[in-house]
Amino acid sequence: MNENDSTTKLHDTLHQVFGFRSFRPNQEAIVATILSGRDVFAVMPTGGGKSLCYQLPAYILDGLCVVISPLISLMKDQVDAAQVNGLRAEFLNSSLSAADRGRVFRQLAQGELDLLYVSPERFAMPEFMATLKTAKVVFFAIDEAHCISEWGHDFRPDYLLLAKIIPEFPSATVAAFTATATHQVAKDILSKLGLRNPHLTRASFDRPNLFYQVVPKENLDLQLLHFLREHKGESGIIYRMTRKSVESTVEFLQEQGVRALAYHAGLTPKQRKENQDQFNRDEVDVVVATIAFGMGIDKSNVRFVLHGDLPKNMEGYYQETGRAGRDGEPAHCRLFFNRSDMVRLRYFIEQTEDPNERKIAEQQLFQMVRYAETNACRRKSLLGYFGETYGNENCRTCDVCMGDVERVDATVSAQKIMSAIYRTGQKFGAVHIADVVVGAKTEKIRQLGHDQLKTYGAGKDADKKYWRRVIDDLLAQDCILQNADNYSALELTPKGQQILLGKKTFEVIRQKEVKRADLAGFTGDYSIKLFMQLRTERQRLAQLEGVPPFVIFSDSTLREMATYFPDTPEQMAGITGVGDAKLEKYGDNFMTMIEMYKFVHPEEAQQRSVLQIPVTVKKSRKKKNGQTAQETLKLARQGLSLDAIAQMRGLSDGTISQHIEKLLADGQGGGLDVDTLLDPAKRIQIEALFARTAAGSLKAILDASGNTVTYAEIRVVRAFMQAE
Ligand code: ADP
Ligand code: MG
Repeated sequence: MNENDSTTKLHDTLHQVFGFRSFRPNQEAIVATILSGRDVFAVMPTGGGKSLCYQLPAYILDGLCVVISPLISLMKDQVDAAQVNGLRAEFLNSSLSAADRGRVFRQLAQGELDLLYVSPERFAMPEFMATLKTAKVVFFAIDEAHCISEWGHDFRPDYLLLAKIIPEFPSATVAAFTATATHQVAKDILSKLGLRNPHLTRASFDRPNLFYQVVPKENLDLQLLHFLREHKGESGIIYRMTRKSVESTVEFLQEQGVRALAYHAGLTPKQRKENQDQFNRDEVDVVVATIAFGMGIDKSNVRFVLHGDLPKNMEGYYQETGRAGRDGEPAHCRLFFNRSDMVRLRYFIEQTEDPNERKIAEQQLFQMVRYAETNACRRKSLLGYFGETYGNENCRTCDVCMGDVERVDATVSAQKIMSAIYRTGQKFGAVHIADVVVGAKTEKIRQLGHDQLKTYGAGKDADKKYWRRVIDDLLAQDCILQNADNYSALELTPKGQQILLGKKTFEVIRQKEVKRADLAGFTGDYSIKLFMQLRTERQRLAQLEGVPPFVIFSDSTLREMATYFPDTPEQMAGITGVGDAKLEKYGDNFMTMIEMYKFVHPEEAQQRSVLQIPVTVKKSRKKKNGQTAQETLKLARQGLSLDAIAQMRGLSDGTISQHIEKLLADGQGGGLDVDTLLDPAKRIQIEALFARTAAGSLKAILDASGNTVTYAEIRVVRAFMQAE
């Protein structure tokens, strides 16, 4: 098969089997690499679509793909999801009955499986390995590969057994996947698995459909309830720091009629599983959880992740929020922040014995606080943490970029507080200082004679809550600090002294009162009534088959149906998420619902009839000139190569290379990676030619290469070199 045929085949399979219009970033390259028999190590964010990267080759390749997966609960959902797409998938673990186990082993022996999910300890059992050796294993996919690293947050000793894969199955390809971004963990995975010259890819960690937001925490339970009332019927997770706070929040929400359940390590495994299952099956809307609620959540329609308390570090925070919006639909990530959380966490950190650990934990905490208090784009600061530069000026999906927060000069307020601190001898805590400034008549103030100070009552125009905020802000910006020995006493730092003396100004971030119906651009035009009916149908089918609803269709798929009202198989096949197998299995049910709905609502049906279901990308016609570079940008960001883009768009590679050049020159190249556009070896070759060749023209490089590279390739490399 030549390259063009194979690209077309990948796209056809993507469309027919999985029902998707296009690959997500890096998917195509990973799939192609696995098909070529080379090892892969891929770091992709949660929701990036890692499963497809091994399921698609498993479908195409002749032979078995063994998937190593850490959690029994995940295996079943994944297998269900693969089966409804028509893949021959099974899992083996202790939850299977003896009869089922026998059946799977028979299928295995007869070569009737595309995919087999197993746990690492099952893989390492000698008898099982012997069985696998008689099966035709073409490749191993290692999901959640970071579990092999002691440095990661989910270390599982059993994962170390996977070091045996390569020595025992030298001819099988190995593909490892993780969403954990740290360098240390990545290095560990590569060396422990012993991957052979793997294709390394790292997708952008940006999740453009997640809205990031930080709000001041005041009365948390009420604030949560308020949010839930505005998001009725949506699924979400609320993270809290301790079991106790989980319990109290759940109790409160249940009393208020919210369908919420708890999840934390204090519950029995059975109870935990039950609660998680109910959440998966959309039988409850909300899980209130400690960070114990984690990897097992594959539910795609989580619409919000709220943090009621300050997380310990950015890595954990990003993983937790990443569980929202796997289906690519808009989702909210809101952190409720109050500086007292930081004080509390710091107290725990101070109990740590190992000074090195303590220092790391402290730094991580400060980074988290800085994130919460930043007045720069949240996305920029999150991605920056993972070493990624976010290119856009305005992300349009965080509170800062949407103008929900503003900078306010608060120098005078800061001076009032710091003057009170100074004049009382830097010996008192926040409560007393705020009392002095508002001019409270407390016993303590009278006894100490603080009502005689110049600053007494200097801030009586605002309330105590306001002055506590100012104190928090001063702490946050290191203008004052809390004495380490005399725990609560506030003292001025050199920076604070400068502000007090009027040599520096002091600015704070304030939330603006914004009331939006919903997030801008997030309200698609679809029939909510039909959507709800389709959801009910999905729920019914899911119950019938004993699978979670999102395995049948994702929310985004139902929303598309409620937009375009497809009622013929051809139209239905054009909806994202409807592959051949699902069309055959569920198409009729949903088409009947839609037909009925149209019958009952003829005017609405009439209105909708003008809408066209977007055609698959590869069939899309030529765009007008201005849009054409943008189309290239979109495809390039999805991880397609120069040739693949040219082929897909029916344009020459020269034209595409000019698009890339223009995009980079215009500063629109964010998310473009030269090494996905071209083979890295080519890139290195061309860079070396540029370094060696005096005349830097395209022609000179072409000649120097002995025509082993193309003009288009040279132009792309040059554009990236210039952009740097
Ligand atoms: P990960 O394991 O990387 O967190 P998943 O494999 O669970 O992500 O995929 C997340 C969601 O994205 C799933 O609902 C999946 O069906 C969907 N998805 C994957 N690839 C695509 C694609 N190319 N187009 C549309 N949706 C996709
Ligand atoms: Mg996954």
